[in-house]
Amino acid sequence: MKILYSQKHLSHVPHYEIFDGHQDHHAEAPSRVENIKKSLIANGFKISNPIKTTPLYLIKVVHDKDYVDFIKNWSVYSYPSVFPYNDLSKNRRLTNPLANLGKYSFDLYTPMHQNVFEVALESSSLAYDLATDVAKQRIKVGYALCRPPGHHAEIAKMGGYCYFNNTAIAAQYLSGYGKVAVLDVDFHHGNGTQNIFYGRGDVLTVSIHADPNWKFPFYTGFKEEIGVGNGRKKNINYPMPKGTTDNQYQKTLEKALVKITDHRPEYLVVALGLDTHRDDFFFGFKLTTKYYTKMAKTINSLDLPTLIVQEGGYNTKLLGDNVVSFLNGFI
Ligand SMILES: [Zn+2]
Repeated sequence: MKILYSQKHLSHVPHYEIFDGHQDHHAEAPSRVENIKKSLIANGFKISNPIKTTPLYLIKVVHDKDYVDFIKNWSVYSYPSVFPYNDLSKNRRLTNPLANLGKYSFDLYTPMHQNVFEVALESSSLAYDLATDVAKQRIKVGYALCRPPGHHAEIAKMGGYCYFNNTAIAAQYLSGYGKVAVLDVDFHHGNGTQNIFYGRGDVLTVSIHADPNWKFPFYTGFKEEIGVGNGRKKNINYPMPKGTTDNQYQKTLEKALVKITDHRPEYLVVALGLDTHRDDFFFGFKLTTKYYTKMAKTINSLDLPTLIVQEGGYNTKLLGDNVVSFLNGFI
């Protein structure tokens, strides 16, 4: 298994998030990735740095060109204050930076600052670099230790701590070599990946997550969202109840894998979140550290070239053990 990590993420330190009007501790901290890295080394996994950088044109296939330029050109630490409140501004070129900040954001958890472009580009590069190896079958399994995460980033919206959608960028690249399935096992709905591939028949998107009637991102992740046009029936959501256990999760995962097999993919991208753990900061599901090995073994039974992309997971004390448990299911 090839694992990529980069220390560039250390310059991404969100000061706080605004939840229900309050300044809260920001959960997406540098210690997340450092803790995972430490556990991987302690457990004998070899870690390398990326060699390749994601080409800008590829990011602009997945994301709106103006959105990418907005992130590239931003220079101060900021949160949005006003969001677009009707459609009259839809096709207007907005010149006020604060208007664009609201236009390209969907929450108050995801601050902008001068290093966002650099760190988001590097994060995506871990996934892209491994995708080039997976596509050419130089490796069977890769794990990209991405930070910031990406699966909430939509075509032209950042949110949920995400700026560029690392999972979608890798899936887009792989789709040039064959049909792709994306399996999102993060606690939260992968709204960004759904949004990006919603009309695509060649990239199946499957997400198992907390019911949006109960948890973030609230507006998407429902069963009825099945895709449109060529993408009809190529988007599958499994909203799960509070307190979901290992057994409940396993049953749903097995159903999801049947759908993935039906799609006949040549490549699999797993959006890996460990915020499904029973002691995670979100305290939503009740999955155990031991179960992640079984989850991974079940996914690996598909026997596909697989790229695992790190998404969420916020209990830094457990994150390393949980990633190691998951990766053990692939070796
Ligand atoms: Zn999450």
